[in-house]
Amino acid sequence: MKPYRKECVLAPLFKLFEALLELVVPLVVASVIDIGISSNDIPYIMRMCLLLAGIALLGLTVSITAQYFSAKAASLYSRDVKAALFRKIESLSRKDLDEIGEATLITRMTSDMNQLQTGVNMTLRLVLRSPFVVFGAAVMAFTVDVKSALIFAISIPLLAAAIVVFMSISLPRFKQSQALLDRVVSRTRENLAGVRVLRAFALEDEEEKAFRKENEDLYLMQLSASKISILTNPVTSAVINLAIIALLYFGAINVNSGSLSQGELVALVNYMNQILVELIKLANLIITITRALNSAGRISTILKKEPSISYGDGKAGSSDIAIEFDNVTFSYGENSKPALSNIGFSLRDGETLGVIGGTGSGKSTLCALISRLYDATCGSIRLYGKDIREYSEEALYDTVSTVLQKARLFKGTIRSNMEFVKSGAGDEEINSALDIARAKEFVDAKGLDAEVAALGKNLSGGQRQRLSIARAILRKSRIIVFDDSSSALDYKTESELRARLAKLDSTLVIVSQRASSLLHADKIIVLDGGRIAASGTHEELLKTSPIYREIYYTQFEKKEAGNE
Ligand code: ADP
Ligand code: MG
Repeated sequence: MKPYRKECVLAPLFKLFEALLELVVPLVVASVIDIGISSNDIPYIMRMCLLLAGIALLGLTVSITAQYFSAKAASLYSRDVKAALFRKIESLSRKDLDEIGEATLITRMTSDMNQLQTGVNMTLRLVLRSPFVVFGAAVMAFTVDVKSALIFAISIPLLAAAIVVFMSISLPRFKQSQALLDRVVSRTRENLAGVRVLRAFALEDEEEKAFRKENEDLYLMQLSASKISILTNPVTSAVINLAIIALLYFGAINVNSGSLSQGELVALVNYMNQILVELIKLANLIITITRALNSAGRISTILKKEPSISYGDGKAGSSDIAIEFDNVTFSYGENSKPALSNIGFSLRDGETLGVIGGTGSGKSTLCALISRLYDATCGSIRLYGKDIREYSEEALYDTVSTVLQKARLFKGTIRSNMEFVKSGAGDEEINSALDIARAKEFVDAKGLDAEVAALGKNLSGGQRQRLSIARAILRKSRIIVFDDSSSALDYKTESELRARLAKLDSTLVIVSQRASSLLHADKIIVLDGGRIAASGTHEELLKTSPIYREIYYTQFEKKEAGNE
């Protein structure tokens, strides 16, 4: 909030001024009754009415100014926190994000952030004003008439107590409903992301039932919280109205005996009403602040999280061993069984490594380690002779680019998706990358500026894969990792792609389920259950590795019968 110190001081001050004006109003009304009406002094009444109008106008101006400052401070503050949160999320490693969960990050970025902004805004507006009006009105009542003001001394604590009781019951329920909202949001998100799968397995009904149940829980919790806070109103009104009856009753006796004027009595009733309105605002403020603090806590746990991966500050290495795994073991969780065990291999600059193995054998994990999405649990990884942990973030991204198993494209155009990795890339450069990735034909048909929907949903799986391959090639990194990224291409397109990739200078790591994709690799690793079951060239493996033989022959037969 520091940069907005000015707004944070001015907003409450203007609100205070507004309150001061409001406290004057009952006094003016009292004098209209006592002086103007009792002596039938019409000009005096007119003057006082003008004064009231003036006060109203001034009050409006002051109030708008206050709202302006508080809204400004709150929205700028929320902008800054959002930016900080975004930066923090970007700096977290894959492992951290796995731990936290995506759904809750989104609720924190949106609903919690709104809650926080409202909290700041309301606090700035009411923190000085509400208590000031309550005590101010009570004090003013005492200056009007000490005896009648005793009724204030009894009814205010009574009101405050009623509000505190109701709040202490409803607050925990509001808190719980925030947690329930989290669950509804995360289910919605999951459902939207997996909508195709759900349809494919006809799971809509069950998901709908589950959603309805959670939504119902949220509804009931919010309802019960609201029911209690709704009760606050009739109860406080009852207390106030009883107090007003008492005021009028004793006031009438005093007016009759001449110790209190009619105007003063009206002023007292006005003050009582002001106190009621303000106490209810105060109660709402406390609820808002509590919810905002709760949200602030949820946001700050993320802000305080230290990224589990920190980059070194070194430049890329220069040895001609491009990738070297030295007895690497990796597990995703502290207690889970290793996804990779004792992996050791090395690859020269410009060579091609093939990785093959069943699902869950650790192929994607191996790729993730090469681009340091995760750090090895034991052992070390060197790129060009230098430990991967010594690379600066930039050096690492210049050295390695990865084509993920699941192609990720962004909303925009084909061009913007390509420029994403290399800003200012010219048409020629982009076209040549598209050509290598065998994407040029379908891109030419649409044009470079054809629209790409979020996540590339308007493209086929194979088109998405080819675009993300082109994107990696455009970067011209020294190492390019393909994680099963041509699985949606037909054999012919894939073999053309392979032939073009072979002409690049880059070191390639190609993961595939198809033995045919790896025939020409300089070295092939066969993974099985996170271990290297065998390694060597295609010919060597055919002789030595039963697993490789099995994979190759089952596919070779299928290929002959099917595609070519
Ligand atoms: P492949 O790519 O060969 O199919 P993966 O490398 O994706 O296999 O997975 C290897 C093992 O690690 C599997 O047992 C899988 O369940 C586990 N695994 C993969 N990703 C994660 C993750 N983010 N968190 C926990 N376990 C994971
Ligand atoms: Mg995989």
